[in-house]
Amino acid sequence: MPPPVLLWFRDDLRLTDHAALHAAFATGQPVLPVYVLDEQKPWALGGAARWWLHHSLVALGRDISRLGGRLILRRGGSAAAIVALVREVQATAVFTGGMTDPAERAIDRGLAVSLGDIGVALHRKRTATVYGPDQVKTKAGGPFGVYSPFARACLALPPPRDLWDAPKVWDAPKVWDGPKVWDGPKVWDPPKVWDGPKVWPAAEDAGHPIGADRIDDWRLLPSRPDWAGELRATWTPGERGAMERLTGFLDEAVEHYAARRDRPGGDNTSMLSPHLRFGEISANQVFHAIAERKLSAGVEKFRNEMLWREFSRHLLWHNPQLPETPLRAEFAAMPWRDDPAGLAAWRRGRTGVPIVDAGMRQLWRTGWMHNRVRMVVASFLVKHLLIDWRLGQAWFWDTLVDADLGNNAASWQWVAGCGADAAPYFRVFNPVLQGQKFDAEGTYVRRFVPELSDVDTRHIHAPWEVGHTAPIVDLAEGRARALAAFAGLRREEAG
Ligand code: FAD
Repeated sequence: MPPPVLLWFRDDLRLTDHAALHAAFATGQPVLPVYVLDEQKPWALGGAARWWLHHSLVALGRDISRLGGRLILRRGGSAAAIVALVREVQATAVFTGGMTDPAERAIDRGLAVSLGDIGVALHRKRTATVYGPDQVKTKAGGPFGVYSPFARACLALPPPRDLWDAPKVWDAPKVWDGPKVWDGPKVWDPPKVWDGPKVWPAAEDAGHPIGADRIDDWRLLPSRPDWAGELRATWTPGERGAMERLTGFLDEAVEHYAARRDRPGGDNTSMLSPHLRFGEISANQVFHAIAERKLSAGVEKFRNEMLWREFSRHLLWHNPQLPETPLRAEFAAMPWRDDPAGLAAWRRGRTGVPIVDAGMRQLWRTGWMHNRVRMVVASFLVKHLLIDWRLGQAWFWDTLVDADLGNNAASWQWVAGCGADAAPYFRVFNPVLQGQKFDAEGTYVRRFVPELSDVDTRHIHAPWEVGHTAPIVDLAEGRARALAAFAGLRREEAG
């Protein structure tokens, strides 16, 4: 039996269309799959993402077990854990997905050196994006700072590579035999069984094979209190759930996507974000599925949103300081307010502004919030309350099941006006008008703010007009204060 290679799963918890998995099996050596829970790195997973990870790993572990393999779990610093496992099983190479997060990139640099010292190669393959973050370049050869030319440059590149199939013995025929969209050319005939090493590494205190339910030792799930009830009702983490979500969306909603995507009151968007975040489905698979469709307005718009995701990763790759530092340097002098009570009210969805409170409660209850409402709540925090966008980003990081370093940081900087391609700071969303425009009937607000359910539709977005509590900040005054702070910033810059 030849020595094994390691397949290190990261933000790519799937078996189909997985470049690192494909390359690992192509060696012809036994493949040992491993996941490492690294709680030491910066931006370690927040609470909602840990919930998701638990279920996603259980699904992946089950799928690998069905093929005769076993997912090994380790906990600790990623590099040390991988080196230890390499030594333990005498692996000759490590295959993994390439990452855009700065901390992960630093881990990879260190790991490549440590492995090199013992004669083991680290192979990083693109598993998360369609286009390499450093592959898309301006005419001058530099990175893009603006979305539209970036998107055009992506679309001018050769089409996404062919899809890679999953092992055939996977017992999920309903989903896999679904619409023809998965019938891309096969360039790889996957193994019928998972060809692992003869002797599997023993369980140890810090990590155990899935299957023995030892993932519970990681305590990824909340217990006291168990806030995950509505998460369980909303989501099916894992590759199969991701595929079902995509096919359901393409069959039922994509045609209306261009017209309805901004309306939070119905199922008008794909809700694929956490599946994409954990790589249970590849962006490449989504692009192929789109390519199979007629290019309608809805399909095109959806593709453009997927390109925003590519753009965020491109930005993060070229600006590793994105989650911490405003891209527009003048924002370093912004006089953010220290307002713990305002921040707490925002987090709990108790600002008195219906659309803001509905969004923040949707986030808390389901781990997700509609994109339009994310923009409105973020604008309310950084403008009406004049609170630092990084505090909002941190709350989203902890509560979103799709918390994604690139998307989250780029979006917060965009709303705050300090990003590269940002909305101008002086464009302050009026949350009442936003509510009236995008939740005209008040369906969304009534669903998440039950104390307003009896308010008539005319007043649902301004219930203080009919005796309900006024917002924690007067909307006109908050707006004026934000604009004054911004004007001061510009004067400082000019001086
Ligand atoms: P759809 O409308 O169905 O879009 C399909 C996919 O395209 C999404 O799943 C997502 O991967 C991508 N996408 C859509 N909009 C954007 C966008 N504006 N930027 C980047 N990618 C996008 N998205 C995250 O995945 N993680 C985050 O942590 C995150 N934080 C955000 C914070 C703020 C303040 C704002 C305004 C937006 C944030 N977004 C984030 C982007 C966006 O809101 C979500 O991706 C989207 O709401 C997910 O829902 P969906 O899957 O139904 O999207």
